[in-house]
Amino acid sequence: MILMSVDVESWVHRPVFNIPLTEQTKELDCGHVLRSTRIILELFKKYRTKATFFVLGTVAEWYPELIKDIKNEGHEIGIHGYTHTRLTNHTRESFDEEIKKTLSILNGMGINPRGYRAPAFSRADFLYEILNRNGITYDSSIIPIKTPLYDGTSYDCRPFIIDRGIVEIPCSILKISKLRIPVGGFYLRLLGSRMNYILVKKIEKKYGIAVMYFHPWEILEIPNNIYLEKDKKIKPAFLKKRFAYYKIPMLKNVQYLVERINFTNFEGARAYIDKTILG
Ligand SMILES: [Zn+2]
Repeated sequence: MILMSVDVESWVHRPVFNIPLTEQTKELDCGHVLRSTRIILELFKKYRTKATFFVLGTVAEWYPELIKDIKNEGHEIGIHGYTHTRLTNHTRESFDEEIKKTLSILNGMGINPRGYRAPAFSRADFLYEILNRNGITYDSSIIPIKTPLYDGTSYDCRPFIIDRGIVEIPCSILKISKLRIPVGGFYLRLLGSRMNYILVKKIEKKYGIAVMYFHPWEILEIPNNIYLEKDKKIKPAFLKKRFAYYKIPMLKNVQYLVERINFTNFEGARAYIDKTILG
């Protein structure tokens, strides 16, 4: 089984730009997240792709109709936090507050999410405890590579049970001796669609399951000159800037995959994961 997931956040939420969240943030986004997510919905509809959308609470507040449409198209809604603050910058209390706030927005729309993915694959020791307390039954925040935030190399991409009644379904990597090659997101841009296709097929064969993910801001051109206020321009450092815009837009990469792979979502894969992989 190959799972498709979309982390629904705006480019303004990306840590690389370090833009403070204020009442003006929605204006800065200029409808980008709305347009790009609608394009994704159209694409998924055309190829009958079923996906899990890990939605940020702020986006759900900005565009409730968009979230309802995602649900009505038959996709699963999971949560991605409220502000996109990394877990490393949260306390147990502030994280709990974010989860509750996001759930309450979605519950108000008649949606009861069961899954969570952390911003930037960040980690904290209170993660599973808080998720469990809020009725979340699976997490997909681990990427089994060494990242600037943590060392995930003690994991592979096989799902496993957390003692608190939560299942962890990590994002996918292919291990070739000591090499760990991730798929999705930045790596879908870096390595391209063909290589990602080959990788997810190999991962699926090896572990019984593979997870693909990307973001709405990756599929449409994002603004190059960002002014927070008059004369106050956002300028990521040179290397960060290369990274921030690298091979965006990449709608074609996503299209290549959905044309060839019969994706399902986390909800649709849970019975298979519980029975076949977790035993
Ligand atoms: Zn994110």
